[in-house]
Amino acid sequence: MSHLELWWIKSTCSIFLLLSIPGVIGWGKEGHYATCKIAQSFLSEEALNAVKELLPETAEGDLASVCSWPDEIKWMHKWHWTSELHYVDTPDFRCNYDYCRDCHDSSGVKDRCVTGAIYNYTEQLITGYNASNSVVKYNLTEALMFLSHYIGDVHQPLHVSFTSDEGGNTIIVRWYKRKTNLHHIWDTDMIESAMKTFYDKDIDIMISAIEKNITDRWSNDISSWVNCTSGEEVCPDPWASESIKYSCNYAYRNATPGSTLGDEYFYSRLPIVEMRLAQGGVRLAATLNRIFDPYPSVSQKVAYFGKYPTCATHYLKLDVSQQTSFVN
Ligand SMILES: [Zn+2]
Repeated sequence: MSHLELWWIKSTCSIFLLLSIPGVIGWGKEGHYATCKIAQSFLSEEALNAVKELLPETAEGDLASVCSWPDEIKWMHKWHWTSELHYVDTPDFRCNYDYCRDCHDSSGVKDRCVTGAIYNYTEQLITGYNASNSVVKYNLTEALMFLSHYIGDVHQPLHVSFTSDEGGNTIIVRWYKRKTNLHHIWDTDMIESAMKTFYDKDIDIMISAIEKNITDRWSNDISSWVNCTSGEEVCPDPWASESIKYSCNYAYRNATPGSTLGDEYFYSRLPIVEMRLAQGGVRLAATLNRIFDPYPSVSQKVAYFGKYPTCATHYLKLDVSQQTSFVN
């Protein structure tokens, strides 16, 4: 039995629970698995060693096996504060994203959104890892799992989309014959349909096909995908800007409430889904490679990192007191 099957069985109950609650999960289980599996294949030796050191024992060295963890725990009382960190809402029909304007939770607390969370957990890993002579304030196992998950989420276009329809969650449509909502189609249904149609129902075959495109069709694009301007370790703002553009140009287009989406929608949007999974994977790898690169020093990285984002509140200092050990 493959690792994925084991993970699937372990997760089945919680996944059914998640699917029964309308629309708040990120990429579905397969999407996050794919993003992290792709990332792991592009890690440097230093980053791979650090990731393996930080992963919970139950992961058995496989980052992909824990990448849906933040979706499974966000329903729990203890973790409910993380549930608004999976997405960012933008003003309706503007089709743009601005960190300072948009990154806040429903109560208006600044920095509490997916891009803020990516800054936060990157900063925790940079300052916490190798900080042997200071008190380690953060749970770096959780920081790694949150960062890996949220970099996946910010690449799902409808995680950066309109406020009033809750990222397509309130847009009820049919996916072929089945009633669902637009957000769920992008999280899960298109990936599942692709697996059935093209990949023998096997996520690992789909991942191999995406990886082949990374080294082949998209090979000239990779440096522009992974580079952050000004040398910062992570740059979720341009990634979020891309997502809202894809939401407007592809996800929302021809997906009015009550419509039936089938072949035409599926075949024209699937290339976007596969490219966003690829971009999420290679950018997660590039981010982890920069975080765990021994050069420059941690203090130089923190100096760089402190510049972002540019609005006044800077990155989060997320609820450190609420973070406890990983419990599986
Ligand atoms: Zn999520």
